[in-house]
Amino acid sequence: MPQTWMITGANRGIGLAITMELLRRGDHVVAAARNPWGGALAELAAEHTSALIPLELDVTSNESVAAAKAALGDQPLDVLVNNAGLYGPRDKQTGLSVDFDAWREVFEVNVYAPLRVAQAFLPNVEAGAGRKIATISSRMGSLGSNPSGSLIYRSSKTAVNMAMVVFGNAIRERDVSVLLFHPGWVQTDMGGGAADITPAESASSLIRTIDASGMAETNSFRNWTGEAIPW
Ligand code: NDP
Repeated sequence: MPQTWMITGANRGIGLAITMELLRRGDHVVAAARNPWGGALAELAAEHTSALIPLELDVTSNESVAAAKAALGDQPLDVLVNNAGLYGPRDKQTGLSVDFDAWREVFEVNVYAPLRVAQAFLPNVEAGAGRKIATISSRMGSLGSNPSGSLIYRSSKTAVNMAMVVFGNAIRERDVSVLLFHPGWVQTDMGGGAADITPAESASSLIRTIDASGMAETNSFRNWTGEAIPW
């Protein structure tokens, strides 16, 4: 019996790699993106006509989330993956110089959006058998590493960790697990060419780790292979 996963930011990078790996193994994917009908998703949709469901979604917009929810209807979801993310300007996020408009924009995508999407699609996850909501955070949000630089990005990932843990506790009684992951340093537009692992390597490990997770792992912060990361 195939599972159905919904992935945000499914059109490129890690989100696209997760989508491709799920389709390869025979699962169904609700591929959510600002433009789900172009680029790599268009090619995949032609190949997987029934298994790939394109869903237009700008995660920062209440209207877009409401429209996407209406379009998806009561479709049960086994797993929802909050993957869409933004780094912000690389030169304006030190302790001494921050672009506040960019900070706000990154918080829209990395902090508010995962919660907005999780709240909106919770009924679909509760209707599914998998009952998991995973958010792609980053170990750069960990406070345990004496962090310096990348202030905008780091603070957004620290904040999303807290937001999802509060959410996870609010829905603990509903038997839906809330999972936070660092995906590795991954060769994507965000991670750059010098990164350690390919999107496919990150995706297949993340999927394996999510498959093996349940309520025992709710509110955990782990890397792509499943090892715990300090908050
Ligand atoms: P990319 O920059 O390659 O892709 C980002 C994705 O997010 C794109 O699909 C983009 O869509 C989407 N996105 C951005 N803003 C919005 C929005 N408003 N609405 C909908 N989608 C949006 O990033 P990665 O694949 O590398 O990163 C994926 C996740 O992994 C992010 O959360 C990132 O923070 C995290 N991560 C990545 C690491 C890495 O090394 N790559 C390391 C640690 C964490 P569009 O094409 O429309 O812009």
